[in-house]
Order: sequence, then structure tokens, then C-alpha cells
Amino acid sequence: MKAAVVKGRRLVAYEEVPTPSAQPGTLLLKMKYCCVCGSELEYVDNQRAPQNPIVAGGILGHEFVAEVAEVGVDMAFVCVRRGGNVLKQAFDMVRVQGRVILAGYTESVKLDTTSWLRKQVRIEGSLNRGAKMATALKLLEYKRVNVKPLITEIIPLKDVQRAFDSMYGGENIGVLLKP
Ligand SMILES: [Zn+2]
Repeated sequence: MKAAVVKGRRLVAYEEVPTPSAQPGTLLLKMKYCCVCGSELEYVDNQRAPQNPIVAGGILGHEFVAEVAEVGVDMAFVCVRRGGNVLKQAFDMVRVQGRVILAGYTESVKLDTTSWLRKQVRIEGSLNRGAKMATALKLLEYKRVNVKPLITEIIPLKDVQRAFDSMYGGENIGVLLKP
């Protein structure tokens, strides 16, 4: 199978790798799309967390749309893009006494604490555990959130280096890689 393989700092290659097999208690998934995550950009850039060195030969991709190979069930996972502006927008949009759930890494941002107080907003962190993921999937299912603007380009997996370059360069905020 083909995969996006880390080669070095800001270098990702489209390469042939062995196809894995499903182990007990795991699934073998056939990827339909894979999103380039902000955490992968930071990992391959290796600037913010130099204590977490790049492992050449590592295979990227943890946000994806896939079919379970054996039974054909569709699954979808979505996570917030990086960018402090998104957090500010969420804070402005939320109703009085509402909640803002931060489900992805962003830069540190300044919050207007006076409007936070007046609006009585709760801000929670979530790292894809617990009931919040189920809530997020319900919001998607009932089309209560529009995630389409978060994907700015769909790029073939074979052009994975261009996908990373376009996100480092700021031309894209969210890329789906299509195998
Ligand atoms: Zn991610």
C-alpha cells in the first residue's frame, strides 16, 4: 500500500509500505480521506517540541474517513484546526451560559475576560475522550456545525509534500489527502 512517510524535518514522502493485517481487537481500515493535522505539522516541523524528535520512517495520519475493510461501516472523526482565531470565533458565537469545548491544539490566545464573565461561558478542554466525542458526532450528524470551511483543499496522497508545504506556507488551513 502507499503511505505518507516522514523522512526528515518538513519532509514527507509518498512511498510503498507493507500492508498491515488486523490483529485481535483491532480493525483494518481502508482510507477514503486523511486529514493533515496541526499536531503532525508541528511534529514534522520539530520546532515547538524538540524533545520529541522526528522518527524517520514513521507513518502519519490519525484523522481520517475510512471503511472497515471487512464489514464496510463508515466512520468519521473530525478535530478542530489550529489557530487561535477559531477559538475567539467560537467564543463569540456561543450562547449566554454556553460551553466552548477546545478539542485540538491552538496557539495561546488572549481572551476578553469581561465578555467571558458577562456571557457566563464555560471553557473546557477535551482530548478525544469521554462523552464529548459522542456529542461532536451528534452535532455533525444533525448538521448543527458546518465543518466544510475547515477543509480548504483535497490533495492526492502522492502529493503529500505539497500538502505539508501549503499548510506551512499558510495557503491552506485544512487539507484532506485522498489515497
Ligand atoms: Zn489530530
